[in-house]
Amino acid sequence: MSRVYNFSAGPAVLPLEVLQSAQENLVNYMGCGMSVMEMSHRGKDYEPIHQEAIATFKELTGIGDDYEVLFIQGGGSMQFAMIPQNFLPKGAHADYANQGTWSGKAMKEAQMVGDVNVVANCAKDIPTRMPRDDEWKWSEGAAYAHICTNETISGAQLKKIPTPCAGVPLFGDMSSDILSCARDYTKFDLFYAGAQKNLGPSGMAVVAVKKELVAKADVTNVPTMMRYATHLDNNSLYNTPPTWAIYIFGEVMKWVKKMGKENLFRLNDEKAKKIYDVIDGSGFYRGTALKEFRSNMNVTWRLPTEELEAKFVKEAAAAGMKSLKGHRSVGGIRATIYNAFPIAGVDCLVDFMKEFEKKNG
Ligand SMILES: *Cc1c(COP(=O)(O)O)cnc(C)c1O
Repeated sequence: MSRVYNFSAGPAVLPLEVLQSAQENLVNYMGCGMSVMEMSHRGKDYEPIHQEAIATFKELTGIGDDYEVLFIQGGGSMQFAMIPQNFLPKGAHADYANQGTWSGKAMKEAQMVGDVNVVANCAKDIPTRMPRDDEWKWSEGAAYAHICTNETISGAQLKKIPTPCAGVPLFGDMSSDILSCARDYTKFDLFYAGAQKNLGPSGMAVVAVKKELVAKADVTNVPTMMRYATHLDNNSLYNTPPTWAIYIFGEVMKWVKKMGKENLFRLNDEKAKKIYDVIDGSGFYRGTALKEFRSNMNVTWRLPTEELEAKFVKEAAAAGMKSLKGHRSVGGIRATIYNAFPIAGVDCLVDFMKEFEKKNG
């Protein structure tokens, strides 16, 4: 059976050459006589895999040695919990933007730990969107400010990174759009992404954090595994890390480097535009997000009825395009087109959309 066009939002499609190279090296990695899955995480065969993955990610995001890159299990959701536990001390407050499902979940975790100032709230708005420039109500003296750059479920993306009050560190959940567009990562004191969307397989979050921030945090009452300091002081090897996920992540980073970032960013724009053009040129499809906040990664739209949406998903799957169903919490259609999603798959979808409208519109 041939590979389908996989529009899943995560775990998501990986570059074919990465999968093929992993397959070639599965049983005997580079002549080591064993698989990466079977190696000691403290052995000399594994060490360069770990270090190179970190180095390539730092190079691609343009962050310097004032940051540390960490691999932490528990995905993006664990970061929602760890951030307030480490950086929201008693008596302090944090700024949170509520922009949709994911940032709302992050905010809830912080509310269990301390006080939260809601900087902006557009989580329930339809059409879905991100806060506008004049909407952010930042507060002075916040312990940190937390935003989400791309809401994966609603398909809304922040096109301009906002600036909190002076001296307030900015934290970003970039799970679904990291390394997908030009961005100044040094604006963030901490940013993270669940690996299974744009970076690699599931099993961990990749976290970049400023060392001085971790050094300053009072973590006396935080369990050892939940402290950033634990992972930082031990190069993410305090306990056994997900070595296979780290290996594939490193291979994906090499692939991004080989493709060329700018080339990839341009391709992402082109891919998204092809689908949005069909939506805008039709009276049949209706985009879910406001135009100015449309995501390049998760394209969401509706059809006139839920019956037609079900039919669309079913017929697309039969034509080799899988996982186009919108998130179970919102319905509709979602085409996720991360870095590794091929443009040929977008062309296939676009043709299908036009044909489907002709027959059912
Ligand atoms: C998927 C996602 C998460 C949660 O990631 P898990 O790894 O499943 O915990 C968090 N934030 C955003 C923006 C996401 O898309």
